[in-house]
Amino acid sequence: MLNVNIGELMTHRAYLSPEAEGYVGRKTYSFSEMNRRVNQFAHYLQQENIQAGERIALFCKNHEDFITSFFSAAKIGVITVPINWRLQTSEIVYILQNTEPTLLIYDVEFEEKIKDVLQHVSVKTVQAGDERFDPFIDSFPTDEVRPVSKGDDTILIMYTSGTTGKPKGAMITHTNLLAASIGMSHVIDWWFGDRFLSVAPFFHIGGFAPIITNVHNGSTSVLMANFDPFAVWKTIEEEKITTMMTVPVMLQYMLKVFDKEKMNYRSLRNITCGASPVPESLIKAYDRLGIPIQQVYGITEYTGAVSFWKKIMGEDKIQSMGKTVFHGKVKIVDPDTNEELPPNRVGEIVCSGPQVFKGYWRNGEETKKVLNHGEYRSGDIGKIDEDGFIYVIDRLKDMIISGGENIYSSELENVISSHPDVVEVAVVGIPDEKWGEVPKAFVVKKESSPLQMEDIIQFCQNQLASYKCVKKVEFINELPRNASGKVLKHVLKTKKQSIKNWLPLLY
Ligand code: ATP
Repeated sequence: MLNVNIGELMTHRAYLSPEAEGYVGRKTYSFSEMNRRVNQFAHYLQQENIQAGERIALFCKNHEDFITSFFSAAKIGVITVPINWRLQTSEIVYILQNTEPTLLIYDVEFEEKIKDVLQHVSVKTVQAGDERFDPFIDSFPTDEVRPVSKGDDTILIMYTSGTTGKPKGAMITHTNLLAASIGMSHVIDWWFGDRFLSVAPFFHIGGFAPIITNVHNGSTSVLMANFDPFAVWKTIEEEKITTMMTVPVMLQYMLKVFDKEKMNYRSLRNITCGASPVPESLIKAYDRLGIPIQQVYGITEYTGAVSFWKKIMGEDKIQSMGKTVFHGKVKIVDPDTNEELPPNRVGEIVCSGPQVFKGYWRNGEETKKVLNHGEYRSGDIGKIDEDGFIYVIDRLKDMIISGGENIYSSELENVISSHPDVVEVAVVGIPDEKWGEVPKAFVVKKESSPLQMEDIIQFCQNQLASYKCVKKVEFINELPRNASGKVLKHVLKTKKQSIKNWLPLLY
């Protein structure tokens, strides 16, 4: 793999297509204008004597100042730590104490939250996220900075979603980002001339990885700080968006407010969606609107995309995660013996290739559990069929072992969600004296539905072997989710009291 500095991608893009529209944010920026900003901010970082290997933390939404900060830091070898702005003070403090950044760049709108954080950690701060940042940047020289660090040096610490517990800081290198972007660029259908809607949050790899790909292919990024389904459709129309990256819950909200008479979405060529399973019904609903959905299987520790499914790969494979990106390799192993399994056998998904991260920041113990000679143990259960299509069946941690039998929560979720009165469902294992664990379903039902626990149990029994069926059902108003829309099953498992106060955190 090329031994290069990822920040220099911006320099090269500005050289290749200086006048092309690069970013639409508070203003519109050509690539040469963005590269100028990047160099100016890099001069600021150098003036502050921030050295390669030191960290800057970004507590920012999706906007031009995030893009500027990341590429400036990358050029001079400074590591960026994006922080999820939905986190609570104690969680933010944890990440800041863990990474010890020299500088914290935060959005003006988060002033109060950051004041609170600064009671617990001491770090120099800079405000960004509005037009006051522009004269600040303009006060620095514009000449091209000399790149420092490349290849296997860490350039990004991306915290995992924390779906299964405390988030871990995945160390991502220049090479990882380059490999992920190359791997994805030629598989996913995003090209020069595209107008990409950047609405998936940059603090997750799914939102972040396209930043690199868009510079690689020279497409325009339309930056959207907040997800609002109406605003998304409006922006698609006004900005003639051709493609975008989403998570399933975003697609669901967009569909809910969709009005064919009022919305002009004809510019859209496709939408990519992933981070959690994209229901087949959702893919088909968008397909009926003439919008192909490309499903992506993504992992932070893999710098994003592992594999893609898109319609031309075959509708009979719609339930799969498609095939791996370039340079990506996936195999299935027996989780106990680590022995590679033949096609169609279910085991743990193990990924290798230049996209595999370097390890967890200051957490050798966790790193050792998942990284072995460049192979990453995903903790996902899946299989590869005879045609090389990858299927993700469940997370190992979510698999329920009942009386010695393996029960996949996803299999039960697929069955229950096909009930016409069910809006959404999550299944978890709960302790049981006789069986060790039994499956319990948390169900969101349609508003006026008379659905009862017995109906759900009967519905499962009609379709599945009885040992697999849910033994308990609880109706709730909404499922607890994290910022990337993933269901927080550990919350369902441990929360005894009502969870109706959990708001969908995305909105
Ligand atoms: P943590 O490691 O902190 O618990 P996390 O595993 O959710 O968080 P991410 O890297 O954000 O961290 O998510 C990767 C996981 O998300 C994958 O291992 C897989 O379980 C799930 N995933 C991603 N894309 C898909 C998809 N399209 N379908 C099903 N599952 C997916």
